[in-house]
Amino acid sequence: MSATTPSNYRTAATAGIASPRLQKSLHGLQNRFGKGAMEIWATMTDQEMRRRVKDARMNTFAHLDIILAELAKNVRTRGGQVHFAATAQDAIAYTLAVAKRHKVNRVVKGKSMTSMEINIDPVLEDAGIEVVETDLGEYIIQLAGDKPSHIIAPCIHLDRNQIGELFEEKLGIDYTNDPPTLTMAARRALREKMLTAEMGLTGCNLACAETGHISLVSNEGNIRMTTTMPPVLVALMGMERVVATLDEHREALQLLTQAAALQKLSTYVSFLGGPAAEDDPDGPKEFHLVIIDNGRSKILADPEFREVLACIRCGACLNICPVYGKIGGHAYNSPYCGPIGGVVTPLLDGINKHADLCKGETLCGACKDICPVENDLPRMLAALRHKLAYGSDLWNTSQHSPAEAYVYSFWKIVIGNPRFFRLMLRTGRFLQRPFVRKNKMVRKMLGFAGGWTKGRDLPPLARQTFAELWKEKYAATRPNPIEGQNEEGN
Ligand code: SF4
Repeated sequence: MSATTPSNYRTAATAGIASPRLQKSLHGLQNRFGKGAMEIWATMTDQEMRRRVKDARMNTFAHLDIILAELAKNVRTRGGQVHFAATAQDAIAYTLAVAKRHKVNRVVKGKSMTSMEINIDPVLEDAGIEVVETDLGEYIIQLAGDKPSHIIAPCIHLDRNQIGELFEEKLGIDYTNDPPTLTMAARRALREKMLTAEMGLTGCNLACAETGHISLVSNEGNIRMTTTMPPVLVALMGMERVVATLDEHREALQLLTQAAALQKLSTYVSFLGGPAAEDDPDGPKEFHLVIIDNGRSKILADPEFREVLACIRCGACLNICPVYGKIGGHAYNSPYCGPIGGVVTPLLDGINKHADLCKGETLCGACKDICPVENDLPRMLAALRHKLAYGSDLWNTSQHSPAEAYVYSFWKIVIGNPRFFRLMLRTGRFLQRPFVRKNKMVRKMLGFAGGWTKGRDLPPLARQTFAELWKEKYAATRPNPIEGQNEEGN
């Protein structure tokens, strides 16, 4: 992933805010799915379920090596091949080698955010292999040469008129903005690709160690075809996606579909655990499961951030986040956008490199409330900011902005000393005079403080503080509510 610099974060965020079309889509998304998920949590009869799934996820992480070994053993027993990839390059090299061995010309893909994380498509394409996304949203993004802007609704930033124009240009159909007609056009185009692809490439929503299978949910049926029609199937899986038992798998899957799409269960749920048996009517002849680390071990080893691995990639935190709801997904510069992206992208790809992501969120706590596994993203965003403020050897993080650190160290001294604080207020009131405009607002501040007034006016410091007003009116008779004592210090 390329670095998220202040300029590209702000440019993409500003463009998102300025787009009425995007604002309308995001408002609709949050209004329906954000509110809907909160209603489900509020009314579900089993109020312990989210906590149970979270505990199970965290228990799994405490024995992850053993549980992954069990998963691998059970997949191998059924004839599947398992590869543990320490890095993105390792996973790409393995997948490419499988494709070359089978002289693959076309790969059909589905449900693989991990494939975007490791950026495998350009490597396959450089090797002369056509890569076709089969999830409708991803297919639209691929045709447009665009990037996804939501974890489960990747083309939320495009409306049906734009998709109609895109299909007219790329698929050669007459322009229409009728969703069923557009869907049928994509279906025709994709069916031909699926029938002729030599390899399927998928992700993995969850894997179950006890049974040795992975599961994939979809509402379009593309996953069934992607996983059963090509003779070779490669599934890419982040190593944290495993659960220990089938019972845990069932509950995690239920939470996933409810949080992601307000469904008790997705239209299609595919369980895959190896190549087709001799008496199976269809299915791949070869099944490869690539279990990818790519930075996850480091997260696992740090108790401060381990919790983020419990994420089941439902996208619900995006559907309620006030920041994502305004700037959209492109500003996050990663397949993982929204609050989860603000935590996981820096951890996987460099905290300094993506410093703006954790700084851009508001820490309002809505993402924690909606998260099916109650991930405390605000706490982890604050922890990332702490690393940026003070540096971290463990995370190889340098102090992001020494000037900002000095300002806050100074501020800490100021607010810890009432006399100094009052002196600073008086000085500030005096110094602000030239900046207060006729509307009694500060229109522009200087230097790096200018960022505050770039998009909004700032109320000036009040002529009198609350403590001064209190002193004026009641000091003789009542204690000072701010300092817990009257001005005489009694
Ligand atoms: S952090 Fe929670 S809400 Fe966000 S994608 Fe992950 S599981 Fe879903």
